[in-house]
Amino acid sequence: MAQPKKLAEYERKRDRKQTPEPFTSKRRRSKGPIFVIQRHDARRLHYDFRLEMNGALASWAVPKGVPLEPGQRALAVHVEDHPLDYATFEGVIPAGNYGAGTVEIWDNGTFELLERKRDGGLTFRLEGTRLEGLWTLVPAHLDGDEKNWLLIKKHEEVDRV
Ligand code: MN
Repeated sequence: MAQPKKLAEYERKRDRKQTPEPFTSKRRRSKGPIFVIQRHDARRLHYDFRLEMNGALASWAVPKGVPLEPGQRALAVHVEDHPLDYATFEGVIPAGNYGAGTVEIWDNGTFELLERKRDGGLTFRLEGTRLEGLWTLVPAHLDGDEKNWLLIKKHEEVDRV
């Protein structure tokens, strides 16, 4: 099956014969688009935050983990899209490969996209096992780098029907 072009960078960085990471993008039934947060104990520990968008997982690496207190923000480095099957991946990426280290699912579930801004900013409600509530991801271009976004915990809506 042909892969979306957007996964070209993912594939370029990895050798299928050397890593157990998935290369397929099959959509499974769920009540909404899925998200996953993976704890990735690589050269530097970080949390990979992924949202299902357009047949792939849009992905950000969050060095300090997902902010939990309203108003709290964390650097989120935009990285290459991952295939949908990555959402269930846990395992060890062997030494010498891109992202070598252990990947564990820290949370997963579905999300509701509430707003998509012209600059790419996203506001969404996560419905996971650990996490529930509103977050926003905004391109922040910190230090002039367009890959540097911010993940911000939002206050709950007070007038939610
Ligand atoms: Mn990672």
